[in-house]
Amino acid sequence: MNAVPLSASKRCPHCGQWSDHQHRPDDRCTHCHELLDPKGPQKAAEMEQAWKWEMPPVMLIDIKPTDGAVLRFFKYIIRGGQLAFASLVAFIIWVVTVLAG
Ligand SMILES: [Zn+2]
Repeated sequence: MNAVPLSASKRCPHCGQWSDHQHRPDDRCTHCHELLDPKGPQKAAEMEQAWKWEMPPVMLIDIKPTDGAVLRFFKYIIRGGQLAFASLVAFIIWVVTVLAG
């Protein structure tokens, strides 16, 4: 019998015990204190890198306070599209990373 919900526990690859985890890349086993996901911190760093690479601040359209209401409205739509596209790219990179990993 395992009373701990599956989503909140993970089997430690080092000692084989079920350990609580907080869905963080650097969660450590409560039994042997090894990383529950040995590739976790590396994957998190790669994701961060991908985000920075995919979304340099200059790529985002500049919305000035002096812009008119209509112009700002359209710029928000464009920016929303840019963010959606960046999320999609990041998601694809994530899927590729997971499949390759
Ligand atoms: Zn362990």
